[in-house]
Amino acid sequence: MNEVNEVNEVNKKIKSILGLALTITLILSGLVYSSVNAQSSDDTLNVVATTTMLADLSRIIGGDQIAVDGLMGPGIDPHLYQASAGDVTLMQRADIVVYNGLHLEGKMGEIFENLNRQGVYVIRIEDGLDKTVLLTSEDDPNVYDPHIWFDVTLWKQAAQFVADGFSSADPVHAELYGANLEQYLKELDELDAYIRGRVFELPEAQRVLITAHDAFRYFGQAYGFEVRGLQGISTAAEAGTADVSRLADFIVERQIKAIFIESSVPSKTIEALQAAVKAKGFDVSIGGELYSDSLGDAASGTESYIKTLRANIDTIVDALL
Ligand SMILES: [Zn+2]
Repeated sequence: MNEVNEVNEVNKKIKSILGLALTITLILSGLVYSSVNAQSSDDTLNVVATTTMLADLSRIIGGDQIAVDGLMGPGIDPHLYQASAGDVTLMQRADIVVYNGLHLEGKMGEIFENLNRQGVYVIRIEDGLDKTVLLTSEDDPNVYDPHIWFDVTLWKQAAQFVADGFSSADPVHAELYGANLEQYLKELDELDAYIRGRVFELPEAQRVLITAHDAFRYFGQAYGFEVRGLQGISTAAEAGTADVSRLADFIVERQIKAIFIESSVPSKTIEALQAAVKAKGFDVSIGGELYSDSLGDAASGTESYIKTLRANIDTIVDALL
């Protein structure tokens, strides 16, 4: 082998090594490219919502662009709900967290503050509401009543606020969120008309709603009901025997036909009230179960906000008629 041939052999080897290196580089960059691509084609946002009402609302406004995890299931009391370590991790990893505020999630306040600091996009429904129509606690004028979902007009404001929040967190899909909102606002108007129609069936004197806790004051304000709860606007404080006796007197005096248990509050308080009324020589029936601080479930056909509010007004009017 002469010198020229030897140089040629070396050149060939170098070329084949370079070729292999180039191929490997192309394969690797192809892999990197396809993984970025996969990520950008799956651009759904992860939303965590606290209550069943807010999970339902988020799913409706977000449509296919949003994957929603709800923290609280049906029948869970948000006033008393303690977030687990898993819940906190879920919220920290979310793109958006939606919560009610007005101290509804009374034991979670600090967690939300931290999320804000950690850069999670937080939607607090409280900030989207017309404060002039909000009710305050009868015991403390500085404490707002958090049960805003029972006035459909306020829930329309909540829907608007969620759509605005999703749109500013994800402007690319703002048009979709806006269209979903428009459609939903129409359905909420139909719901409002349905509720008013059913209330109209009841003579005015019979429009009195007595439940386990003060969850229905917005309902009362919006639809012309006198509303009494055995416990206050939070279930955190227990009703005393004096409260039971006072409410029993009211029921006897007004000859009220029915009182209602709530799906997220133990029924024993309302049963105690019924017994106290009986002891005063009057019979009040238990008119059924209302969904107060959580929606129902698919098994009972009440898994959405609209279905739940329809079921509630049917239960109320049918029992009081
Ligand atoms: Zn409540």
